[in-house]
Amino acid sequence: MAVAAGAVGAGYLVVRQPVTARPVPREGAPSLILISVDSLRPDHLGCYGYHRNTSPTIDRIAREGALFETAMSSTSWTLPAHAALFTSLPDRVHGCVDDLQWLDGSRLTLAEALRAVGYKTAGFFSGPYLHPCFGFSQGFDRYHDCTSYSRKSIELIQEKRFLDPLGPGQRMSFDLMKLSHDDITNPTVLREVTSWLAQRPEGPFFLFIHLWDVHYDYVAPPPYDTLFDPDYRGPVDGRNLLGACRKPPHWTAADVAHLEALYDGEIRSTDDTIARILEALEAEGLEDGILLAITADHGEAFYEHGLHGHRLTLHDEEVRIPLILRYPPAIPAGTRVGGQACIIDIAPTLLELAGAPPLPHALGRSLVPVLEGSAGGAPDEPAVCELTVPASGVHLFALRTPSWKVIYDFSRRDFRVFDLARDPAERTPLDENTSPFNLAELHGLYRGTAVKLQEAARRLPTPGERDTPPISKMTEAQLRTLGYLK
Ligand SMILES: [Zn+2]
Repeated sequence: MAVAAGAVGAGYLVVRQPVTARPVPREGAPSLILISVDSLRPDHLGCYGYHRNTSPTIDRIAREGALFETAMSSTSWTLPAHAALFTSLPDRVHGCVDDLQWLDGSRLTLAEALRAVGYKTAGFFSGPYLHPCFGFSQGFDRYHDCTSYSRKSIELIQEKRFLDPLGPGQRMSFDLMKLSHDDITNPTVLREVTSWLAQRPEGPFFLFIHLWDVHYDYVAPPPYDTLFDPDYRGPVDGRNLLGACRKPPHWTAADVAHLEALYDGEIRSTDDTIARILEALEAEGLEDGILLAITADHGEAFYEHGLHGHRLTLHDEEVRIPLILRYPPAIPAGTRVGGQACIIDIAPTLLELAGAPPLPHALGRSLVPVLEGSAGGAPDEPAVCELTVPASGVHLFALRTPSWKVIYDFSRRDFRVFDLARDPAERTPLDENTSPFNLAELHGLYRGTAVKLQEAARRLPTPGERDTPPISKMTEAQLRTLGYLK
């Protein structure tokens, strides 16, 4: 796909697609808004039973629409999870599973599918892995950079601190990651979305809004920084969490609790931003007819298995996500859906609700039959999750149903089976006497799934050229954004 990035000022990236005749959406097609709140655990939201008032707006949206009680990501970090969200393909099929990879142009996305039927499309991203260099601008008429470090990154490029040495094998540098983790982006996203709505083109639109601030570091502005643990006086300030996943030995239970309180403050700050976005929709007379989806790319661990953060394990605290849909014309208020939904089900569901054709190679399923009550609950086929971290040698693969979960650990050459009904926190793996599977069955489960995924990947169009390191694409895109390249 030919994509050209034009320079219009720092923090604002315009991606222009080739100009072709655009079809007209069907009569009555709704506008869609898909909000991805980075690192948002469902069990820290009121509508999922949390004890703190972190999410009054998300709770209201859930009351007015449908809440999926269990939804699973495809992994525990941003890049592959968003590729799965956009393409309805598990990580092993879309193939974007490492910092050095990107979503190939041959993988069709939700934005492309909607654009093909005449939707106007705009994306707003606020964290580094959603940058167009990773292929996520596909299908968007405009793709807005809402990070605040675009200009700073140029200085780092010039100081040669932005990137590790150029060439194959390079990764996003610690300096860039540090900048992004300190960033506060909610106000910028709100401003850009509000501005887009005020000048929106005629007809139905699709907005993808990525909200980054819940992601660590937890540096919410006042009053959110002291909202949930105001009397704490210890050493935890929510900063410098990048790369520090193990608990410092001197930390007390109160310190860990404070870390969660700071995370909760970020959630409340983001919830208030969503409230402002809804107010902007209302001001434009748009709120009622919009199909609104709220989800996340992955969760966040708070030492449940000895570690903090994500991209560490495939335990539920890292791979469960919220999923809430509101669309009054088709979804009754107060709908709660049991069973298990997956991140790859979201695009097929939105396309069906919009009356648009499905993505041709999607492996997720539309949840509309579940919403209409023609199915008993969300599909119970095992969800597939995978995590590959070459730097630390981690390679995990998991299959999960509402009742059991198997985590295959390829680096340790073992697997663990959990009974989720008795042990939802995944604390004690079953032994060979209590496991519902013997060794041969476990190997068979993995092999059967792996073959199915391999066949699905084979059916996809051949990827385009993959010989350009993605980080150099990123550098080029940043330079274009800032006017250094024409
Ligand atoms: Zn993320």
